[in-house]
This record gives sequence, structure tokens and C-alpha cells, in this order.
Amino acid sequence: MTDAAARRRLLVLSIDAMSVVDVPFARTLPHFARILSGAWGSAEAIYPTVTYPNHTAQTTARTAAGHGIYANEKVSPGVRTPDWFWDARDITCPTIFDLAREAGLTSASVGWPVTGWSPSIDIAVPEIWDRAGLEPTRERLRAASSPRGRVYAERHAGEIGWDRKHRFGRFNTAVAADILRTDAPEVMFVHIVDVDSARHTTGRFTPQVREAFERVDGWIGEILAALEEAGTAEDTNVAIVSDHGHVEVGRCFRANHVLAQEGLVQLDEAGEVSSFDAWVHGCGLTGQLHLHPEAGEEVRQRVLSLVEEWVADPGIPVQAFHPLESMREGYGYSGPFLGVLEGTSGTNFQNTWEGRALYGRFDPDYTFLLSQHGHLPEQDIQAVFAMTGPDIEPGVRITRCTVTDEAATFAHLLGLEFPEADGTPVTQILRAEV
Ligand SMILES: [Zn+2]
Repeated sequence: MTDAAARRRLLVLSIDAMSVVDVPFARTLPHFARILSGAWGSAEAIYPTVTYPNHTAQTTARTAAGHGIYANEKVSPGVRTPDWFWDARDITCPTIFDLAREAGLTSASVGWPVTGWSPSIDIAVPEIWDRAGLEPTRERLRAASSPRGRVYAERHAGEIGWDRKHRFGRFNTAVAADILRTDAPEVMFVHIVDVDSARHTTGRFTPQVREAFERVDGWIGEILAALEEAGTAEDTNVAIVSDHGHVEVGRCFRANHVLAQEGLVQLDEAGEVSSFDAWVHGCGLTGQLHLHPEAGEEVRQRVLSLVEEWVADPGIPVQAFHPLESMREGYGYSGPFLGVLEGTSGTNFQNTWEGRALYGRFDPDYTFLLSQHGHLPEQDIQAVFAMTGPDIEPGVRITRCTVTDEAATFAHLLGLEFPEADGTPVTQILRAEV
């Protein structure tokens, strides 16, 4: 590490659900093109291929067994709108923000998953919302932001969009640009979700997805302009990362509806969940099979044989059950459950126990997501990783990397090192002297 490298800055922009297949179009957009003129390639996600576990891998270099964020949502049987893993204190290993603080580097995060109540980030404006509405969302955001982050969150609170649910893209861009101009943190992570949202609601490659890319390109331009204004652009290595691709959804499976029919989820007179022996926690295209902590061996065997029946029954869209041990060995995945149900291609697992067990795309009652993720990481199109900056060799095509490698690369560029890591720096992209 040279002295120059020791003074380097890092800006990471996560374009949620951007895949490597999107690169040719993104290169036609001016600000994406600036970053893609550096090194780029595909990056394999960790399992499950959902947002919070992967964003945590990008700040810890660990898979879910190491960092503890095993899903987006906390397992909450019977709760209609569970809390997500918003709280940074749920992470079970050091993050790049912890390492930065120890090394005396200033840090910021905007909209980055699992950064609420962070003990290490100087300026944190995390991703958090309240489905009750815009004002409760602002309230939660104030509570979860760091004291200095709260100043920015309040200054730009009017830019949070609300169209039946939160829209943070405009807000996150304004906050990030303001932080860069005002505080010029040495390490900064920003999360932009618009491409992912457009894909979920309209499909993988639609005019709305194209529009989302064009909108996001403008936002990247604003953030890069703030870097220029701050006078830090020349010292900053800039990355684009993403967390997963998408798969078209063909059907939704409500495993908990079947568990309720089997008496393994108990409902009260109002149809609410009063207790449970087993519960399937939907994680997009896979479902985690949970047992009640006090369930005995008899219940466990009954649940496992029911799941075997599902896998054998062609009418039920579950093609495999992976016990926890095999997931730990194969994917570095672990959590408080028996194992993982893998749907047939394009099957979205839902937590809901009401209605029917199965909804198909041609079903007139189908009002659900059109594309989704959560599948095994090696399947379908991959996420993208791109970097440009003073330490990056331009024009390199990355031949292989994972999201944990990205975190290791970021640490390396800042002269930091994780005490334990599942990923290694992508040295292929570094200029010779780094
Ligand atoms: Zn995502």
C-alpha cells in the first residue's frame, strides 16, 4: 500500500437488481458509462439472493453464516408486515464501517440496508420505512439515523416519495450529494432501488425498467457532480454494485396456507395466527422452514415428511428441500431454521396464510409481483460489479467475483483488512502500484 493509496476515498453506489445483462444499455447512458469505462464484470450473489443479506456481504466480506442477516424480513409468524433487518446491531461480524472508524476514516451511508442505529457510521441515513404512511416513515428514519445523519434526513425529508409505499431514490440522491459537498466523508455507501422496484412491478425488461435506468443515470450524475464540487473526485475510487438479478414469476405459493390446513399453523376465529408448530418464511423464490422453538421430535418428523410430500407432488411447486447443513457447506448459509424450500422456477413464496395455496400468473386473482429473486445464486443472470478511479485499471473485464470479494476489494483499497473474510480482493482490477 502506497502513501497515495492510504489517502484514497471510496464511493459505492448500489443499483439494486442491476444485472450484467443491463451493461450494454447502461453504457449508452452518460453517467453509468463513466463508471463502466473502468473495470467491470459479473458478481455472484450470496444465498439467498435477496437485498439485505447481499448488501451486508458487500460491507463485511462474509456470507450469511458469518454476518447473521439471513433474510430481508425478520421471521414473524402471523405478522402481516414484519419488520425488516433494519438494525446494524443485528450484524454478527465487523463491517467496513467498523474498520474505517478504527482506522480514523470518516464514513457515511445513505439508504444502505442494515445500517440503522449503526454504532460506527459517522453519517448514517439508513433504509427504513413504516407501511402506515409517509409521516410514520419519516419518524422511523429520524430515529434510526445517526445524529449527524438526522440533520440531512430532516433537511431533505420533503423529497421522500410516497406512492402507496416509500420511494427513496430522489431522497437518497439529494442526501448523498449534500453529504459529499458538505462533509466529504472518506467512505460512502449509497443504495438506489428504482430499477428493482420497476422490475418487481412490471417485469424484467420493460419500458418502465428502461425509464428507471435513465432516471438513476441522472441521479448518478448528481452524485458524481457533488464529488467534483467537493474537490475529492480525483482521489475517489467509485464502484457500482448490485445484489441479485431477477427471475420472471409464474406463480405464488402460500405454504403457510397448507400448514394451516394440516393443523401445523393454528388460526383464531378471526382467521389470525394464534400459534404455530411450523412456519415457512418466504424469502422471494425460496422459503425457510421454521419450527416452533418448543416443537418436539414428533412435530419435526411430521413437518419433514409433509415437505417430502410437497417435493414429490407435481401439483405443488416445491422442487427441493435443502437441509441447513447442506446450505452451510454449499453456500455459507445459516439461520434459525431447519432448511430451505426451493420452488420450481418462478415460484414466489409468500408468508400469507389466507386465500388459496397457489396463484398462477393467468389466474384472474393474480395481482402479485411479476419478477422476483431469492433463487440459488448460480441460477439465471448475475449481478454487476464495476469500478473506476485512481487505483483501477481501465478496461479490465472481471472474470470472476462474488459480492464478498467486492467487500474485500473495498477494504484493500482503503488499506483496511477484515479479521475474517469469505471473499478476497479482486486484484485483477487494480493498477500495478496498488
Ligand atoms: Zn435488491
